[in-house]
Amino acid sequence: MIKRNPCIANIKAGYLFPEVAKRRREFAETHPDAKIISLGIGNTTEPITPHIDAGLTEAARKLSTPEGYSGYGDEQGLTALRERIAAVFYNGKVAADEVFISDGAKCDIGRLQLLFGAGTEVAVQDPSYPVYVDGSVLIGAAGSWTGTGYQGITYLPCTAENGYFPDLSALPKKGLIYFCSPNNPTGAVATREQLERLVEAAYKNSSVIIFDAAYAEYIRDPALPKSIYEIEGAKKCAIEVNSFSKPIGFTGVRLGWSVVPKELVYSSGESVNADWNRICTTVFNGAGNIAQAGGLAALEPEGLKEMKELTDFYLGNAKLIRSALRELGINCVGGDNSPYIWAQFPGRDSWEVFGEILEKCHVVTTPGSGFGPAGESFIRFSAFGHRSDVEEACRRLAKLK
Ligand SMILES: *Cc1c(COP(=O)(O)O)cnc(C)c1O
Repeated sequence: MIKRNPCIANIKAGYLFPEVAKRRREFAETHPDAKIISLGIGNTTEPITPHIDAGLTEAARKLSTPEGYSGYGDEQGLTALRERIAAVFYNGKVAADEVFISDGAKCDIGRLQLLFGAGTEVAVQDPSYPVYVDGSVLIGAAGSWTGTGYQGITYLPCTAENGYFPDLSALPKKGLIYFCSPNNPTGAVATREQLERLVEAAYKNSSVIIFDAAYAEYIRDPALPKSIYEIEGAKKCAIEVNSFSKPIGFTGVRLGWSVVPKELVYSSGESVNADWNRICTTVFNGAGNIAQAGGLAALEPEGLKEMKELTDFYLGNAKLIRSALRELGINCVGGDNSPYIWAQFPGRDSWEVFGEILEKCHVVTTPGSGFGPAGESFIRFSAFGHRSDVEEACRRLAKLK
């Protein structure tokens, strides 16, 4: 038979969320009366809001008419949407032809690896969103598994001691740096000064930052940057990925974008933007036309108002969770400009704490160690949930006393 791709063989089994789901299922089977509440996976729960829904449904209806029907669109996305994103989120700092519409940030993170290929050195925040490492392994940019991480991948610990911002002195040369702010899972948001240091370090090392801003719309503190392009010089060394999933609940609808600046060039001097265009037209065929109409509606004034209200709602959940944890004397960060709360259980094993919360409170969380070795002894609480469920979960957390 045909041989297996050795890169797939190199990926460690037990992707975090399937393992969480398995443990939840096993608990439900042995405790059929338990009403389990999930503050685990970062999946949105609230319905699509009215103005954005109208954008989606109108687009769907148009498709059933001879005048309104359209087939394939431009692989890079609707020009109107690219222009609106450039104007609304980047204040004109980014041009419409630097914005590429996609079916989501995670999918783009996977495809972006094609620009650089196997053998590229990679650095990630530790803990981090799993796709940065696993996507690198898939394309052959990682060496063998050492028991705690992969050779060829630089893990940058983000801990309570360094305020969840890594030491940048060990960055790879001519490599890729994945950086997520507001961060999943720690909830930390990098300050302007920190991002300035990041851009400077990338520039000095001839490296490229892949900046994941999927939670930018959760930032409430006006001093905190929502985009890497708010930092001088970032267009020469950073690609930004972003998504409609978390700000307007498009996790199932699927819509995101990447910004690939024209100033960004390889060591050969060739354009990364031109290559990304080639990849989008070669192994991607554009985001759904209905989803894009929903995105356009979201960027109209009424849609932006709904986006603010929805993110405010989830931030309200975050506040409740944070207060409940603090009342128990549990140290935690995040949740003020992000929908995640990162709670510390010093000296304890993350999976063991996960098990205790599930058993005593019937609440599903995510063990921090699943996001990387520096996540050990932490638990991530997600603020995505119905208000009544979050309130009930907070009451039950008192059983941890
Ligand atoms: C949820 C999430 C995304 C969004 O992915 P989509 O594919 O757009 O749904 C991207 N990055 C991080 C860190 C996330 O948590």
